[in-house]
Amino acid sequence: MPPVSRLFDFIVIGGGSGGLACARRAASYGAKVALIEGSGRLGGTCVTVGCVPKKVMFNGASIMEAIEDAKHYGISVGSRSLDWGALKAARDAYVKRLNGIYETNVAKDSVEYVDGMASFVSSTEVKVNDAVLKASHILIATGGHPVIPKVEGAEHGIDSDRFFELEKQPKRVAVVGSGYIGIEIAGIFKALGSDVTVFTRTPHILRHHDSIIGETMMGEMERMGIKFEHSSNVRGIKKHDGAEFPLELRWSTAGSDSESSGHYDCVLWAVGRSPNTAPLNLAAVPGIQLNRTGHIIADEYQNTPVPGIYSLGDVFGKSELTPVAIAAGRRLADRLFGGAQFADSKLDYVNIPTVIFGHPTAGTVGLTEDQAREVHGSENIKVYKTRFTNMYNALTPYKPPTAMKLIVAGPEEKVVGLHLIGRGCDEILQGFGVAIKMGATKRDFDNCVATHPTSAEEIVTMR
Ligand SMILES: Cc1cc2nc3c(=O)[nH]c(=O)nc-3n(C[C@H](O)[C@H](O)[C@H](O)COP(=O)(O)OP(=O)(O)OC[C@H]3O[C@@H](n4cnc5c(N)ncnc54)[C@H](O)[C@@H]3O)c2cc1C
Repeated sequence: MPPVSRLFDFIVIGGGSGGLACARRAASYGAKVALIEGSGRLGGTCVTVGCVPKKVMFNGASIMEAIEDAKHYGISVGSRSLDWGALKAARDAYVKRLNGIYETNVAKDSVEYVDGMASFVSSTEVKVNDAVLKASHILIATGGHPVIPKVEGAEHGIDSDRFFELEKQPKRVAVVGSGYIGIEIAGIFKALGSDVTVFTRTPHILRHHDSIIGETMMGEMERMGIKFEHSSNVRGIKKHDGAEFPLELRWSTAGSDSESSGHYDCVLWAVGRSPNTAPLNLAAVPGIQLNRTGHIIADEYQNTPVPGIYSLGDVFGKSELTPVAIAAGRRLADRLFGGAQFADSKLDYVNIPTVIFGHPTAGTVGLTEDQAREVHGSENIKVYKTRFTNMYNALTPYKPPTAMKLIVAGPEEKVVGLHLIGRGCDEILQGFGVAIKMGATKRDFDNCVATHPTSAEEIVTMR
């Protein structure tokens, strides 16, 4: 029997942050939309194995820390203990509820949810299960997946997806990688009571962020008792069945000929993510181009070189964040189906705020100091910095730092970068993101009366 062929205005491949937002917005304009999702549940990385379950774990870790802090406020809460299984079960139930809410919402919006993996047949046709869906507009929003390094025994380690499958808390963890995902998970493990070592390829962590964030975060993680193996090159894992710490991780350190090893019951690979393009059969659409990292190339309007095919979100690879995928998706739907008023609709990728749910949290928007020097010239920028202890820690013997850096450019001192780390910085950033997006200057910041006593007030009182 020939495959069933069905006609739509818009086919969206991938029911994650970007695909869902784009499909629902397109349907709101009356477009007939098919949303194809291959994992069996809607929500994508963010909801199922990313931001959402990660933030739940971060919250749990923060509660553990607060209980430790309580005694310094004269509050007695007994001993701390964690039922990892109960936390996981509650978290999984929450995620499942969200998956279900997305299903209900797409049905309400008259988006047709098609459960299956999509692959191209031609530039206007996509095969899924036994059907061929046809449309003159097709969005690729297939996201990405964690990379597993090609070293011996790599399969004995887990990635961030499988972190969320752990049924019990490991006692001794090696986190390989020091980007934001590795740093966040390392902090969660440690605050929840695991022994943690982070392996970094360089002497730094969070290399893509301003140095004030990486340096302050590392100092505080060390204070928490997290160990670092810097400039390390992980060689492989050997499994010793039956041992308490069965995973023998081997690594070499730059500048040394010898190899080191350590024993763990969990090795977590956090060495990067790669776009999901393999199952798409892109060979059927020869005009689609991948860049050097395998992301699908598109212009500022998310157009690929093939008319009617678009890419956005993690598979496009610019600012791999949920709100970015959502915003790009909504703007694309506006442009394609929202009428003449949205003819120029596109996402501006400049000054995108982002936060790191580390211990402590960090928030960053705009240029790093190095980038600002390169873009504006060192002679045209000015850097304001502050470092202090949040009043929350006035009564605790440990004094986690709060550090802030404001970078301004030109004679008008326009704010081009803001980098914050410390308690509450995740929540502080959003409002300053608005001001910076509007083109605020240092003078505008200074003109705003401080809120007191807060950490945020330091941002408008820096000298
Ligand atoms: C551990 C972790 C923590 C994170 N934390 C944050 C955070 O705190 N804040 C933040 O903003 N971002 C965070 N992110 C990033 C965020 O999750 C992604 O940027 C976002 O999910 C990207 O959305 P997307 O729509 O591009 O892709 P995804 O959400 O990954 O959705 C793509 C969907 O496409 C489906 N798919 C793939 N191929 C096919 C196919 N051929 N056919 C059908 N379906 C297919 C996949 O199953 C998936 O559901 C985190 C990511 C991770 C891994």
